[in-house]
Amino acid sequence: MKNRRKIGRVKSGGIGFAYKEMLSDFIEIIDTESKFVMWARIDKALLNLEEDLLLGNIYIPPETSSYASNDAFSEIERELIHLKGNKKHVLLAGDFNGRTGIDHDYYEFLYEDDVQIELFENSIYNFETSIFSKDRNNCDVTKNTYGNLLLEMCKSNDLFIVNGRIGDNIDGLYTCKNVSTVDYFIASFDFFQIIENMNILQNNKLFSDVHSPLTLDVKVNIDEIIETNNEFLNHGTREYIGKWDSEKEVNFVNEIDISKLNVLNDRIKIKSLEIENVDENQINGLLDELNNIIISAAEKTFGKFTERLQHIGEDQLRSLVMRLCQRNPSFVLDVWNESTASQIQGGYHPPPNSEAPSWCLCSFCREMPTEAERVCCRQVPMNCYSRVPDFGILILDEAVLAMCQRYREDALVFEADDDINRGFRHSAYRQFILWHHGRLGAGNRKVIPSCCVWRIRDKYPDPFSQYTGFKDGRLS
Ligand SMILES: [Zn+2]
Ligand SMILES: [Zn+2]
Repeated sequence: MKNRRKIGRVKSGGIGFAYKEMLSDFIEIIDTESKFVMWARIDKALLNLEEDLLLGNIYIPPETSSYASNDAFSEIERELIHLKGNKKHVLLAGDFNGRTGIDHDYYEFLYEDDVQIELFENSIYNFETSIFSKDRNNCDVTKNTYGNLLLEMCKSNDLFIVNGRIGDNIDGLYTCKNVSTVDYFIASFDFFQIIENMNILQNNKLFSDVHSPLTLDVKVNIDEIIETNNEFLNHGTREYIGKWDSEKEVNFVNEIDISKLNVLNDRIKIKSLEIENVDENQINGLLDELNNIIISAAEKTFGKFTERLQHIGEDQLRSLVMRLCQRNPSFVLDVWNESTASQIQGGYHPPPNSEAPSWCLCSFCREMPTEAERVCCRQVPMNCYSRVPDFGILILDEAVLAMCQRYREDALVFEADDDINRGFRHSAYRQFILWHHGRLGAGNRKVIPSCCVWRIRDKYPDPFSQYTGFKDGRLS
C-alpha cells in the first residue's frame, strides 16, 4: 500500500494490491520511489507465459486537484522503462484521470511507394490478425490534457488500451459517474494474448464514491496454482459465503457491528500516536480484525452455504439439485458415485453373448436389474451408440479417460480412484453424459443406454462384478 504524503482537506486514498493468500507465491511487490504507481512482478508460471508480467497499479490525481502533477506521467514512464527492460508482458491498471476520446493510442504508419515504414517499434499491425479490434470504442468522446499524455505514453512504449477492444467492454463503457472514461487497463500486445474479457461493473458506494470497478479476465495456469497450494486446497476448511448482491447492500451495512468497529477504530488511533513502534504484525492483526467484522456482516447478509443448506426445504433442495444437474451433469454424477460408494451391493452381470432383451432394438443391450435401467439407444444395430466410432474414442479410449481424470483431479481436487477400472468406468459414464446429452434436462433424468453401459463395463470390468446400477443413483 502506498499513500500520498501530502494530506489535503479532502481525504483521498492511496494505491494497494489485494490478492488471495493462495496466490502469494506468484506475486512480488517491487518497491519504487513514485507515489503514482505501485509495481508488482507476477510469476510467469501462474500465467503460463514465457516471461514474468510487470504489473503497474496507478493513481494519477485529477488535473484540477491540489495533488495535480504534470510530472506524474513522465515519472511513471521512467520507472516503467527501467523495470520493463526487454520484457514483453506489461499491464498497467488504474485511475489515470485522463480522457482519451477515441484518438489512436498508436502511431500511424507512413507509406512510401506503398511500402510501410515504421517510425517506432509498433505492434499495432498484430491487432489486424487478432481477435481484438485495432481501433477502440469509447462512450466518452471528450479529451483532456492527461488523456493526451496517456496516449503519448502508450504510443512511445508500444502499449495499448484494453477498454473498448474486447468482450463485455467492447463499447468502451464509462468508468466514472456514467459521464467519463478515466480508468483503464493498458497492456503490451504480448499480454493481450491471455486476456479473455474485460468489463465495467456497476458503481458501488462501498468501494468508490464515483468510480465503477473494472474487471479483467486472463487465462491462468490452474495446474500451477494447485501444485503450489495442494495443502491449502485440500485442508482448507473455508466456509463459503453467498455471493455479493447489490440489492442487499443496505442490509449488509446494517449488519456491520458498529460497536466492534468503534473499538477497533480507537485502537488504531492509539497505535497511530506511537506509529514508530508499530510493526507489520500489529498492522496485520488490526487488518484481520477489520476483515472479521466485514466477513461476519457478509455471512449474516448473504448466508453461509452449510447453514443455508440446513434450513432449506425439501422442494427447494430438489430444485437446487435439478439446477445443479443442468449446469454440471458430470459433477452431479460424481457426487452420487461418491456418496454411495460405501454401500456396494451384490453383483449383476449377464454374460456378453446373452440374448438381447425384448425392450432392446439395437441388439447390443443386456438385461438390467431394474425397470429404470432398461433403456436402449433405440437405433438400428449398425447405428447403435455403443458401436459408432465416436464412442470408441471419446468414451472408451484409455488416453482420453486418463486426461479427463487428470483434469478432474487438478481442477476439482477429487481424490484419484484407487480402483483403476472403476475410475475408468466412472470417467466413461461422465464422458457419455457430456458427449450425448450435454446437459440433463429438468425432470428428464437421463439413463445411459444398457448397450453403452455394458460396452464400458466389458472394457473396464470389475473383477468381482460388483455393479449396483442405476437404482441407487449410482452407476458402478
Ligand atoms: Zn439396445
Ligand atoms: Zn444400442
